[in-house]
Amino acid sequence: MKISFASFFLQFRHPFGLSSGVRTGTDSVFVKLEEEGKTGFGEATLPPYLPEKPSSVTEFLKIVKESGISHQLTLEENLGLLHSLSETDFAARCAVECALVHLYSQLENKSVFELMKLPSTGLPECTFTIGVSTPKEMEEKIKEGNDFSVLKLKLDGKNDKQIVTSARTYTRKPLCVDANQGWHSLDYAVEMSHWLKEQNVLLIEQPFSKTDYDLHSRFTTLSSLPVIADESIQDLSGLEKYGDAFSGINIKLLKCGGLSFARQMGEWATKNRKAVLIGCMSESSCGVFHASHLQGYAQWLDLDGPYLIKNDPFSGFTITGGKCERSVLKEKNILNFTEV
Ligand code: MG
Repeated sequence: MKISFASFFLQFRHPFGLSSGVRTGTDSVFVKLEEEGKTGFGEATLPPYLPEKPSSVTEFLKIVKESGISHQLTLEENLGLLHSLSETDFAARCAVECALVHLYSQLENKSVFELMKLPSTGLPECTFTIGVSTPKEMEEKIKEGNDFSVLKLKLDGKNDKQIVTSARTYTRKPLCVDANQGWHSLDYAVEMSHWLKEQNVLLIEQPFSKTDYDLHSRFTTLSSLPVIADESIQDLSGLEKYGDAFSGINIKLLKCGGLSFARQMGEWATKNRKAVLIGCMSESSCGVFHASHLQGYAQWLDLDGPYLIKNDPFSGFTITGGKCERSVLKEKNILNFTEV
């Protein structure tokens, strides 16, 4: 099996406002696997706050190459081998796993749902993220999210009501809010949850510091809205340990290490009646194409990554008139791949 990679910088359409600062884009490494004329693609997009870097992904690919991963093995055997190579390297493992699944779905002419034993119920609605914005920027960004039926506002912990009020000037669509760990007080959070509910907000994501599980747990019992973990829960072990402190979770392939692990998290969430968002890391159409196959676990898809970047190197997942549509994943011939 031929393994190649391409490093690429995904540029944001708008430098992205978060409570922690401003970013212009994200380093990515795309993985390409080739066998019998078929090609599988995967993506490791690496926001600066993650420990993994492009160099660690390419180092991991060398280990994969030497591991004996091969088309002579079944997909299951290859995934078992892949998972045995590292317990960290979440994004790198995710990229290789997605590329393997993509490749095998073509070689065996089977759907990803069939190959990975994923539920294939209908595609839920998809949210469009609006970074922390001034009232003037808000109007333009809301227009850009025209095709989405739900908007997700990033809050800054200081001007939260002003941000929501300014969005409400331009749209009546349901909203989600993501505090990105910017809140500190339980009283403030509870009061905000009542007010946000009146503003037709559906959920609150990651209100407090990621390790403050006790505060989240107390808030979840008092909040008028579902409290969703993002930074607080990365993978299955985090979910099993801390899942009960929240009403639900934002599952991201790059956080948990790939489709196999995301499936386990989805199963846990279903069993424990937790809400699920399927999210992404401001990634391209490649990453969200793969993530969208987790649709059967989700109340909402949070897969707007390709709409927030201006140099998407892939096509295969679009959102039109509020509806998500997955087609064939294709590379637009702008990446320069190098064989490992
Ligand atoms: Mg978030």
